[in-house]
Amino acid sequence: MKTVSLPDGERVPAYGQGTWYIGDNPATRAEEIATLRLGLDLGATLIDTAEMYGDGRAEQLVAEAIAGRRNEVFLVSKVLPHHATRSGTAKACEQSLKRLKTDRLDLYLLHWRGDVPFAETLEALDALKSAGKIRHFGVSNLDRADTQEMWALKDGTAIASSQLLYNLTRRGIEWDLLPWLRERRIPLMAYSPLEQAGLIGDPRLAKFAREHGMTPAQAALAWLLARDDIIVIPKTGRRERLRENLGAFEHSLSAVRLAELDRLFPPPKGASALEML
Ligand code: NAP
Repeated sequence: MKTVSLPDGERVPAYGQGTWYIGDNPATRAEEIATLRLGLDLGATLIDTAEMYGDGRAEQLVAEAIAGRRNEVFLVSKVLPHHATRSGTAKACEQSLKRLKTDRLDLYLLHWRGDVPFAETLEALDALKSAGKIRHFGVSNLDRADTQEMWALKDGTAIASSQLLYNLTRRGIEWDLLPWLRERRIPLMAYSPLEQAGLIGDPRLAKFAREHGMTPAQAALAWLLARDDIIVIPKTGRRERLRENLGAFEHSLSAVRLAELDRLFPPPKGASALEML
């Protein structure tokens, strides 16, 4: 499995498994668990979840999937902004740990910016890190100004990753946020890399994929994986699709192919408000 470096040099898989909407439907539960387990077998050992997903149901399903295999996993969860106070962050983390049946998270993210001052959230995250409840912390859905603001605060430079909406149809962050993160060696975790399946039926991508012998999902993921500092976290609850998605690694895109995708899905021509889902 290709790996991506965190700022402290620790390496994590470039392909992680998303879990939004996983655990919501009892009829698909067994296949979802089997998919996460197959992912671990195939090296996709980073799992991204959040207290928000299904009000904790996704974390509970993840616990079942990783039972007996915790040490293989790089486990990511997120605290809701309205929980991100000094005591609220500690409580939310404790509840996530309980649902996940583990004693630590590998990475804990602020899900998006709320009303709690960043300094207070950072203090809480740093305390969790000192207590060994989390190994790294980071952010999600922060634009460049917000990220810069946090970075300037005490412990702000410890941000280990930024999780953002990024795919062929959502390239706005390339204008200023992505370069800013790169300068600081903060890897991007690209969420909704398939645009929540919207890219699968995109005629531009379908034609590109057909012409170059891959599936649309593989093309969308291969485009992201062409960079060394991007972690993709597509979600699928089906083993067949997981295998297909991992096939993206077999299709590294040449500069010519990347230029072709730039013509089909143009990069931004100026600054724009951060998009999120
Ligand atoms: P996504 O990964 O872009 O797309 C997921 C959708 O695509 C699911 O409906 C899945 O259905 C389908 N799919 C997956 N592989 C496929 C394939 N090969 N062919 C056809 N369909 C396929 O969207 P996402 O779930 O929004 O994003 C991924 C993860 O990022 C989330 O699960 C979550 O962990 C994280 N996320 C974070 C934030 C944030 O605010 N930080 C926001 C959104 C997402 P099946 O499951 O039926 O295959």
